[in-house]
Amino acid sequence: MTAPLPDPGKAYDLAFASWVYDNVNGGDKLALCMQCGVCSGSCPIGVEMDHGPRKLFMMIRAGMQEAVLTSNTPANCTSCYRCVVRCPRSVPVTYILQDLLAKQVELGYAAKQGDNARFSRSFWWSARTFGRTDERLVTALYYFSFGLKEGYKRAMDNLKIAVAFVRKGRMHIGLPHRIKRGAELRKILAKAAEIEKRGE
Ligand code: SF4
Ligand code: SF4
Repeated sequence: MTAPLPDPGKAYDLAFASWVYDNVNGGDKLALCMQCGVCSGSCPIGVEMDHGPRKLFMMIRAGMQEAVLTSNTPANCTSCYRCVVRCPRSVPVTYILQDLLAKQVELGYAAKQGDNARFSRSFWWSARTFGRTDERLVTALYYFSFGLKEGYKRAMDNLKIAVAFVRKGRMHIGLPHRIKRGAELRKILAKAAEIEKRGE
């Protein structure tokens, strides 16, 4: 189980850097980072991150607990591993970001990331209900989570893309596809939630 966070009151607290080294998968390799920026420069999704991996690692080392735990960088990483392949110091950038995301969720910080939390709720609703993600319903739920007016606007803005997908056979019309043994999947998810609650 993850150790408790250091005192969150300080903007800079080196105890947070130690906490990451000890509790985040790959965190012990952060000391190897020489801040060259190859990871951030190689990242195809960097423009969607509030801080590139290089900067996030600098923030960890500076003990910026609140800023790191509320960053959208871990959630936006697509795990393409380009940074890992290119890092000259073999820092496991992707693993660090993946586990930082898990820690953000576990410690309640992920819910503060509006967009990612909304999308995640839509995604999980579809996965739990149908056993798969129905891109139409996931997108609609996500759009309308911003309210009727904003949802309609977003839907209209992207209507052309949706129609093109349907024409090319990349998006089906009709009822959502379901897996055959949905009840068993829901039992697995319930068991996982129970284990998570016990903190194993
Ligand atoms: S590529 Fe590696 S060494 Fe360079 S900034 Fe990124 S993690 Fe650090
Ligand atoms: S694994 Fe994540 S951080 Fe690394 S290059 Fe890909 S998207 Fe960017």
